[in-house]
Amino acid sequence: MEVSFSKEVRQLRQGAGTVFHGEGILAITKALLQSGVSYVGGYQGAPVSHLLDVMVQAKAYMDELGVHVQACSNEASAAAMLGASIHYPLRGAVTWKSIVGTNVASDALSNLASPGVVGGALIVVGEDYGEGASVIQERTHAFALKSSMLLLDPRPDLSVMVRMVEEGFRLSEASNMPAILELRIRACHVRGSFECKDNVAPAVSTVLPLAEPASFDYSKLAHPPVTFRHEKLKNEERLPAARRYILEHGLNELMPGIHADVGIVVQGGLYNSLIRALQQFGMADAFGQSDIPLLVLNITYPLVPEQIGDFFVGKRAVLLLEEGQPEYIEQEIATLLRRRDIQTPLHGKDMLPLAGEYTVEVIAGGLLAFLGRHLPQSETVAVSDWLRGNTDCRADLLKSIDGPLPARPPGFCIGCPERPVFSALKLAQKEVGSVHIAADIGCHAFATFEPFSSGHSILGYGMSLASSAGVAPMMKRRTLSIMGDGGFWHNGLITGVQSALFNADDSVLLIFKNGYTSATGTQEIISTPDDKARASSADKLASMTDTNQTIEATLKGLGVSWLRTVHAYRVDEMRRTLIDAFTSPVVGLKVIIAEGECQLERQRRVKPWLAGLLKRGKRVQRVRYGVDEDVCNGDHACIRLSGCPTLTIKDNPDPLKVDPVATVIDGCVGCGLCGENAHAATLCPSFYRAEIVTNAAWHERLVDALRSSVVRSLERQ
Ligand code: SF4
Ligand code: SF4
Repeated sequence: MEVSFSKEVRQLRQGAGTVFHGEGILAITKALLQSGVSYVGGYQGAPVSHLLDVMVQAKAYMDELGVHVQACSNEASAAAMLGASIHYPLRGAVTWKSIVGTNVASDALSNLASPGVVGGALIVVGEDYGEGASVIQERTHAFALKSSMLLLDPRPDLSVMVRMVEEGFRLSEASNMPAILELRIRACHVRGSFECKDNVAPAVSTVLPLAEPASFDYSKLAHPPVTFRHEKLKNEERLPAARRYILEHGLNELMPGIHADVGIVVQGGLYNSLIRALQQFGMADAFGQSDIPLLVLNITYPLVPEQIGDFFVGKRAVLLLEEGQPEYIEQEIATLLRRRDIQTPLHGKDMLPLAGEYTVEVIAGGLLAFLGRHLPQSETVAVSDWLRGNTDCRADLLKSIDGPLPARPPGFCIGCPERPVFSALKLAQKEVGSVHIAADIGCHAFATFEPFSSGHSILGYGMSLASSAGVAPMMKRRTLSIMGDGGFWHNGLITGVQSALFNADDSVLLIFKNGYTSATGTQEIISTPDDKARASSADKLASMTDTNQTIEATLKGLGVSWLRTVHAYRVDEMRRTLIDAFTSPVVGLKVIIAEGECQLERQRRVKPWLAGLLKRGKRVQRVRYGVDEDVCNGDHACIRLSGCPTLTIKDNPDPLKVDPVATVIDGCVGCGLCGENAHAATLCPSFYRAEIVTNAAWHERLVDALRSSVVRSLERQ
């Protein structure tokens, strides 16, 4: 990865007496070190990638402290790491994006939660829910419930978040339950400050290793018959211990307000939005002081029945803010109120939407209904007007543009090596007919958008080939499964390739070998080319990553006999290879490796390198593509085949023609796709390739001067 986190690594070293300023997720990372964590692992994914990325780059400091950091191959292996805390007094933390990562990790999590832990185990999940989310909309809460794991949902204030990490470890140790720390997207990126403590070098570490393993203890295995005992322990000892700790250490926050006869229970992570919404009613100040009493649940599982009950007693009504569905907390509170025969009305999903992110506007709508019914003297006219104004404004906007706003889907980076392959796939299907395409998670999923609109299903990260197993035998034409190298190592090798070979599946697998898990932030993997290879590829237009043959060697080792590697930018060669794979008489798995380095990562490396050359007055040659506007016929076939954001349209300079012409705007990285497409699809000859030379050699200047004078003389004739 070419991105440097040196500033963040320096922040991790801050000690007592200093103040940390920065993002929530980095504060969490620092809090792990303040808690004396012995090991950290995980699988990157927004919004928590930063935690692991910074830890990996802080290796020298981690070695100093004796903290082991592991970039795991997937979330299941990260969860399994926590097994170190089952026997040993080791504090461990792992991280991933949820819900998808928790799904992958769930087997190990069940097997961890059953015997329980002695060393604190913390799972930092990025709850990718609501606006800006990139995964299925489900709640991590369900996993905490089913496996009896603690669920922390801290108020998005850096000092509270840091405290919850520290308390999370203690709570985990006091209850023997693994803890999940749930961080919403906004909490990860909230900025603020907190007073640092010194980092704690763990008592057991890579510097101070254990002399002997723990003695054999069958009760620590998630294996019958002790699993029956574990179930009893969860309910009879661990959950009560957790509830005691939560209460005794004030982990949930009770905030009084002047309207003591009503109240709001809120998930900690929603607190900031609630305060902002209350401010619209004039019922909270800028420092978070609310007129309505609040019970802020920094721990959303387990709930503490006495605490909840006490909050409800004596109130005319209480509103619960619980984001997402099903409404687990509401159901539990309703049950415990019934059991204690507390008659205070509980409102929640009857006044707020069942699903979707609870933005300030959404919460304000719920508050309006709640206050209108239970605090009618409150001033709500301004908020009503504000909400109605927003609704009217949106309706007017829709009317003014005569329909819904056009979608603005994300797309491949400029010059991405994956775009040409989808151009080739489009062309190949013109010849062989449409094929069923099992898509996957990764940058290549951008091909599900225009202009490619390709892919029939996405069943999980690295699951494309496995997902085509049921379709392939039902199809006259072979199916195509698409996978990135990230997905291949995450899951695809075992669930897809191994299974397809074992079952003699007759289908085609296309692997994008761009060198990184690009979609999660260009983290390195086992097939990433080494530094030397990357440096030597810097002066090539679109580099190959063929110096690392781990994927090829693995496939051959497993017995893949039909294996082709094609440079991703060679559209016509890729088109022919795809057609070959779809029509070959060879029965069995056919694998095509599309090889071309992630352009984003490449540009991060090449740009500083070029800038350095220019600074030293060295020769630099850049390639750009362009469109001759006099030749372009305006049918835009090139755009439909490419989708590159720098290949766009402009007004036709010919006053007699109305169709806009294609044009290449600033930003083209000269990947060559424009030329390749023009050739492979026999498009109009309007594209040209220009080589821009800075600090040219004397003979290049001479040739240029001669050429210019010839052109000038021709122009004069
Ligand atoms: S990050 Fe890399 S692989 Fe992903 S779209 Fe951008 S260039 Fe392509
Ligand atoms: S050559 Fe074409 S496809 Fe490649 S970056 Fe330039 S405009 Fe985009």
